[in-house]
Amino acid sequence: MPVAMAITLLFAILLAGAFSSAESSYIEYNTTQTIVPGRINVHLVPHSHDDVGWLKTVDQYYFGGNNSIRGACVQNVLDSVISALLDDKNRKFIYVEMAFFQRWWRQQSNAKKIKVKELVNSGQLEFINGAMCMHDEATPHYIDLIDQTTLGHKYIKDEFGQIPRVGWQIDPFGHSAVQAYLLGAEIGFDSLFFARIDYQDRAKRLKEKTLEVVWQGSKSLGSSSQIFTGIFPRHYDPPDGFTFEINDVSPPIQDDVLLFDYNVQERVNEFVAAALAQANVTRTNHIMWAMGTDFRYQYANSWFRQMDKFIHYVNQDGRVNALYSTPSIYTDAKYAANEKWPLKTDDFFPYADKPNAYWTGYFTSRPAFKGYVRVLSAYYLAARQLEFFKGRSTSGPNTDALADALAIAQHHDAVSGTERQHVAADYALRLSIGYVEAEKLVASSLSFLAESRSNTGQGNSVTSFMQCPLLNISFCPPSEVALSDGKSLVVVIYNSLGWKREETIRIPVSTARVIVKDSEGREIESQLLPLSNFTSRIRTHYVKAYLGKTPSETAKYWLAFSVSVPPLGFSTYIVGTAKETEGPSSIISTVDTYKGSKSNTIEVGKGSLKLLYSEDEGKLIRYVNSRNLVTAFAEQSYGYYSGNDGTDKDPQASGAYIFRPNGTFPMKSESQTQLIVVRGAVLDEVHQQLNSWISQVTRVFKGKEHAEVEFNIGPIPVNDGIGKEIITQITTTMKTNRTFYTDSNGRDFIKRIRDFRKDWDLQVNQPVAGNYYPINLGIYLQDNSTELSVLVDRSVGGSSLADGQIELMLHRRLIHDDVRGVGEVLNETVCVPEGCEGLTIQGKFYLRIDPIGEGAKWRRTVGQEIYSPLLLAFSEQDGNDWMSSHVPTFSGIDPSYSLPDNVAIITLQELENGKVLLRLAHLYESGEDKDYSVMASVELKKLFPKKKINKVTEMSLSANQERGEMERRRLAWKVEGTFEEEEEPEVVRGEPLDPSKLVVELAPMEIRTFLIDLDYLQMFGS
Ligand SMILES: [Zn+2]
Repeated sequence: MPVAMAITLLFAILLAGAFSSAESSYIEYNTTQTIVPGRINVHLVPHSHDDVGWLKTVDQYYFGGNNSIRGACVQNVLDSVISALLDDKNRKFIYVEMAFFQRWWRQQSNAKKIKVKELVNSGQLEFINGAMCMHDEATPHYIDLIDQTTLGHKYIKDEFGQIPRVGWQIDPFGHSAVQAYLLGAEIGFDSLFFARIDYQDRAKRLKEKTLEVVWQGSKSLGSSSQIFTGIFPRHYDPPDGFTFEINDVSPPIQDDVLLFDYNVQERVNEFVAAALAQANVTRTNHIMWAMGTDFRYQYANSWFRQMDKFIHYVNQDGRVNALYSTPSIYTDAKYAANEKWPLKTDDFFPYADKPNAYWTGYFTSRPAFKGYVRVLSAYYLAARQLEFFKGRSTSGPNTDALADALAIAQHHDAVSGTERQHVAADYALRLSIGYVEAEKLVASSLSFLAESRSNTGQGNSVTSFMQCPLLNISFCPPSEVALSDGKSLVVVIYNSLGWKREETIRIPVSTARVIVKDSEGREIESQLLPLSNFTSRIRTHYVKAYLGKTPSETAKYWLAFSVSVPPLGFSTYIVGTAKETEGPSSIISTVDTYKGSKSNTIEVGKGSLKLLYSEDEGKLIRYVNSRNLVTAFAEQSYGYYSGNDGTDKDPQASGAYIFRPNGTFPMKSESQTQLIVVRGAVLDEVHQQLNSWISQVTRVFKGKEHAEVEFNIGPIPVNDGIGKEIITQITTTMKTNRTFYTDSNGRDFIKRIRDFRKDWDLQVNQPVAGNYYPINLGIYLQDNSTELSVLVDRSVGGSSLADGQIELMLHRRLIHDDVRGVGEVLNETVCVPEGCEGLTIQGKFYLRIDPIGEGAKWRRTVGQEIYSPLLLAFSEQDGNDWMSSHVPTFSGIDPSYSLPDNVAIITLQELENGKVLLRLAHLYESGEDKDYSVMASVELKKLFPKKKINKVTEMSLSANQERGEMERRRLAWKVEGTFEEEEEPEVVRGEPLDPSKLVVELAPMEIRTFLIDLDYLQMFGS
């Protein structure tokens, strides 16, 4: 027997002897312990990970409904945690998801609220992260991430006066650069913690003690936007044997000498052993145990009782020091240790938890929901602008419900597509309720602004505007009305961007005899395009599914015309009936069908861009831009991966989270592909039916140098017993050396190299799935002379699996669960009374080839236009007096002004207190474009004409503290070994705002947030 063990044994016998003579009585556990220098400090961080919807809806999780699916009730968590904290002032708890906390808080008594506020003020209860939900990091757009974080942080500030210090993204399936620098450092967080990184990356970091790093997520903002980041050694739960929910199997400490199974020393030894094991892979003598996991603390005492005992006995033992802690206390301890930390750049995508388990399927899962979230994100942005122009009113419709619905839709089991079907339906329902209210707000604001010529006051608008949320499937009752004698259709087009736009809009109409006039009464060029069979079919099916009615068959054509819209403003167009006696009406397109019998080349496009198709193969072969002389071989095709069914020796199926292909299949058309080419004055279209469930329309607009591809995919057939994941490939002969670029949440682009990771030597097990990355804005390739860019209208997964080629996954329908918890197959269907069929997706991507160095301008400008499409509202005029009785064009900013091309307004919102929240974003990275990657400036006085700017306060990104205050508090972390030989490239930021000049400077990738006090010298139009 070794000496040490003999001594321990002797000690145990003595202890047992001492206790056996003692009475069993009240033990006062000493839980007061704080950090002890020189000892290993085990920070016990009590937490519950409460998904804002997943297997159950957010409300079901809150009140404990649907418990047959999962026994989870967040109300129980908060009730019991608060009691447990009140029992002992040394106990602590962190709370993360404000969507749940709000539900709880509004039902508490004033007396309870006072007590809870004391817990918050004393630091016993700390809000961590503090957004409405713990958002996904792969599939949301950065504007949505900012909005949902702002909403939660505002709530915490208003109710508790607190500013969360720590990012807590413990569960998302991979981590984005934008999370680190934008939703971390720019928020003012001192640290960020999470659990999930690639298993190969984790193995290396465990070995090298590099789980804790300083992360610089932005090349442009560098060290000015870095954050201390801690990755948990395993997961976001405690070490094995230390979980204490009432049904958990970990042995509790039994310290009553009158009971059997007394185990204090044994449990203390196990605690010390687990602590030392973690200390072995962690720098400094501070380690954190995340004491909790999903929906824990439903009976909080069962956890706190055990932690009280462990802290008491472990500290009596003295080998390590255990304490109640929070991530903030832990962060301060790490900072105080004055260490240098390894530097991390780029991001943590993709994530694999096993060799054949890449979580890259969810980049595309539920593409219709992803599209809906993106559409409403832009609508929310526009609606808040219009509300500001009208003036926020305390009664009447507002955007609050939409804001709330969009916020929880960013949850890591919402827009990610990894929730159960009934939960996805719940998110969509909330969004549609929010939309309906915001739609009323938009309509009333537009009426107010359009009527203000004749109107002296507020609130008595008579013009009613209708909008068409199903316009994408050609359903728009107001534009389809029969335009009878003297009546015509009024189209008001709103532009939420800060620059003037020239674009083509398309609306369905019921007659060919139409003419379009602009606000000056001039007839403008327009074109009628026939509705395709495919469009008619999805129109009928989906209107029935969404609205419960069969649409009338009035729509006969798409009417297309070019519009010009001022910045943050609208223009008006009138669509009327052409009288026989009048001049030419809108021109019906020519339609040619090519059956593929000849080896002809078909050229499409009226302007600089020409697409060349091969008639016999029925496909795109060449891309030519006559202006910049770019010409390239370019093919586009569809194919699918068959989802692995999980029955091989490594049983892992493709599912909602995981992409595990089992072979690739190019899509063969069921008959000879025919091309239908529609040509006219405004645009040309190429219609291709690839098989009975994939078709696409490629559009080339006269004034644009990119191709717009609208794809229709579904219902994906699975009756052969094979799940399918549908992709498109764009293939060129570019030599791209395994390199491609994908965006981070629609913001910075990150360089990707096929089969390569910067942080470790990648062992390639899944050559397809392991090279997939999330795409929110776009993906591009470069060679010596050209760059090929593809932009998307929603988040999708994508890659470049061969040089010169871009691949996007557009839709997936699977028939096996991938065993990551959701317990349901990703098999979306859409039902009408006659039955259900697999979901059909309609979406768009945009394609362009530029000379090298010139692609960024298109990606950034058009990318912003794709995010913020023109908003259309319809009314009717009887007679011919609209233009004389209404304001036909409007701009919310000084009419002589427009924002620089490299800046976007990403928030313009009047808050309840009358202040205005303004966010300006520079759209380019440093070095990205020779003209636009420069300091930009925005004149605030020009943004707010007719108003006096009293005070402008620069805020942190989530607007809960002054920027200057945040910078003063920022911890200055030291980074290992970097920039000692080579200087860090100089980080540039805009100068602080001069209150007299009021010109905001924005450096590349900078976003600046302001609260503005305005005096309303004059309302619009008054
Ligand atoms: Zn979760």
